Amino acid sequence: MAAGAARRDPGSGGERRILCVGLVCLDIISVVEAYPPEDSDTSFIVADFRRRGVDVSHVAWQPRGDVPCACCVVSAASGSRTIVLYDTNLPDVTARDFEKVDLSRFKWIHWEARNVAEQVEMIRRVERHNRSRGAGERVRISVEVEKPRQELLELLGLGEVVFISKDLAQHFGYSSAPEALRGLRSRVQPRATMICAWAEAGADAMGPDGEILHSDAFPPETVVDTLGAGDTFNAAVIFALSEGKSLQEALTFGCRIAGKKCGIQGFDGLV
Ligand code: ADP
Repeated sequence: MAAGAARRDPGSGGERRILCVGLVCLDIISVVEAYPPEDSDTSFIVADFRRRGVDVSHVAWQPRGDVPCACCVVSAASGSRTIVLYDTNLPDVTARDFEKVDLSRFKWIHWEARNVAEQVEMIRRVERHNRSRGAGERVRISVEVEKPRQELLELLGLGEVVFISKDLAQHFGYSSAPEALRGLRSRVQPRATMICAWAEAGADAMGPDGEILHSDAFPPETVVDTLGAGDTFNAAVIFALSEGKSLQEALTFGCRIAGKKCGIQGFDGLV
């Protein structure tokens, strides 16, 4: 299943929402506690999204391919994780799939860098849409480049908010978030906002004026499970920015929610 999902239930008109473009993967955290019955992967994921109030009406259902699946071993001592990913032949969302999205229903669209050529086309469509709209109707564009793969770097230059992973930063030889933000600035649009999370060191951001902002991490009493901390951080930052919060407020909120996530198993009880 390739997903384009939005928060909350579908409805016509009303509040504009946040759309995520990427791919969902089934993480089996503990074989003993929750092993989905054979061939139930897709319904398991859809039920999980629905339970959490995520609208799946924009999912591009694929006639071929299997759900990608990751087996994750979480260390009880430190909450760190080891992931064995069984990647499959599931096609990614295409620009053609994306054509079906009514952009006026969204205030923010986030891309996780994957099939870059198609994603560039999708983003260009949103840019064209934005050119013919007033400020209050524009769709904000964010991208996340997580994996250190050369072909994904093109996306750095397309988002107005750009998330850079610690992995990518280290791949470029940077040993801290501020170093990475300064070093990679020439690769993003001139007035883009860059954000780089750095696990226990919290996260840093660089706004359009080039000033670097920082938030410490909010470590829980006991680190139970860090799997998904990065995605939780990104989601919380996007949510805060989309609600009009300042970059500093969004950064601190992202670290606070991600820290809370690290203190619990999975995501139940995070809201
Ligand atoms: P990932 O590796 O999942 O992409 P990161 O390790 O970069 O994510 O962490 C994202 C955010 O999660 C950090 O900015 C931090 O706020 C929080 N975080 C991650 N690990 C910890 C931890 N051990 N203690 C507290 N907060 C953490």
